[in-house]
Amino acid sequence: KTTARDTTSRDSTSRDSAAGNTTAPVLPRRVATLSVHTSPLEQPGAGDAGGMNVYVVEVSRRLAERGIAVDVFTRATSSDQPPVVEMSPGVTVRHVSAGPFEGLGKNELPAQMCAFTAAVLREEAQHDPGHFDVVHSHYWLSGQVGWLARDRWGVPLVHSAHTLAKVKNAALAEGDEPEPRARVIGEEQVVAEADRLVANTAEEARELVDFYGADPRRTLVVPPGVDLRTFRPGSRRSARARIGVPDDAVVLLFVGRIQPLKAPDMLLHAAARVLAGDPALRARLQVLVVGAPSGSGLAEPRRLQELAVRLGVTDVVRFLPPQPPAQLADHYRAADVAVVPSHNESFGLVALEAQACGTPVVAARVGGLPTAVDDGVSGLLVTGRDPEDYAGAITRVLERRELLAAGARRHAAAFSWDRTVDSLVDGYAAAMAEMAEMAERARRPVRAARLRGADAVRLLSG
Ligand code: UDP
Repeated sequence: KTTARDTTSRDSTSRDSAAGNTTAPVLPRRVATLSVHTSPLEQPGAGDAGGMNVYVVEVSRRLAERGIAVDVFTRATSSDQPPVVEMSPGVTVRHVSAGPFEGLGKNELPAQMCAFTAAVLREEAQHDPGHFDVVHSHYWLSGQVGWLARDRWGVPLVHSAHTLAKVKNAALAEGDEPEPRARVIGEEQVVAEADRLVANTAEEARELVDFYGADPRRTLVVPPGVDLRTFRPGSRRSARARIGVPDDAVVLLFVGRIQPLKAPDMLLHAAARVLAGDPALRARLQVLVVGAPSGSGLAEPRRLQELAVRLGVTDVVRFLPPQPPAQLADHYRAADVAVVPSHNESFGLVALEAQACGTPVVAARVGGLPTAVDDGVSGLLVTGRDPEDYAGAITRVLERRELLAAGARRHAAAFSWDRTVDSLVDGYAAAMAEMAEMAERARRPVRAARLRGADAVRLLSG
């Protein structure tokens, strides 16, 4: 693999078109990563912090290790946050003031995008032209910011949607609010403007094309990864001792933000049915629910507790707060089965992490989960929303746990953040080369990295 340092000049294009020779691709030296609504410094598993945060942390760190500096722009949500934080060597988190620090919900953020964008543009303006080579936006709000930054800086916009409103609205959980029309429109605009769209799975790429009219040639499938150093198999007995679970327990685990979309209630229903089929298990069954509420799920913990009472399973259910990675790994190792019953899931990092720790998964056959879980090999996928089917799948996994645990470890080992970053860097380089070629085709002695404002817009649309 080439690295940013392998390239001799950022001013050459990936193709020496005069000679018709291909040369080493020009790689970015600095990426502006936009994560408007949630900071990579937050603990995932609560509020708006989840898989996207983990994604930004893991990818940024690895880009920097390859010599590609990353500036992550995120909205400041507390007056305690310093404006600039070095998250890891080469990765700078910039807290942008845009609207009040606290008390602003995700749906109120569109009104703050002008303030946010202005701050991003001002940061770049303090440097020489060509400071950033690529803008990578995460979630549609960031895509709106990236769209303008791309036009102003003349660098490609690479966009990761993470979730899509049309897909989410098609699989709404009971009690979940539909995503607003403003988001749908905003996503459509970003899809039309982005130079590259990054999808987690082929299924998400298809959704981008079918529901949003994305150009398939600009849509990349880049699977996310899992940190195999943190999420690795280990002694179940020791893990249980560390988190206070008895040796002979049968442990069913849910990990994630507590919201209707993630359907932790399905696990409670399924556990009640497992117990109905095997009452003797009650003395040993433990259902662990790890995570805190998020978005429209603020009332969820209370609803779950009430449900546990109604189902008569309060004695076997434990609710635990969000856990940092090392402790989370112990929860995965301690579990017999991890259950991911989401109504929709663009990928499902939790499923992958559980498998990397050697724990098979029972998951809904939706979104990216059929990619994250190898059905029948590393766990079981459940079609539909019948708790009876979940209970059946849990029971079958418990019966074949050792075999599926081995399959789980093998399946997870095929994913790695380094591979994710390889593909992203290739995508960045291809988008940069394309933009440079566009400038060349327009027969202007203007390098893509130097394009500004109206020039960029004219060349890009021409
Ligand atoms: N997570 C965590 N601690 C918790 C719960 C979750 O660190 O207590 C992390 C988890 O490791 C995973 C992410 O949050 O990487 C959730 O990602 P996933 O793709 O499963 O769901 P999302 O939050 O993106 O909907």
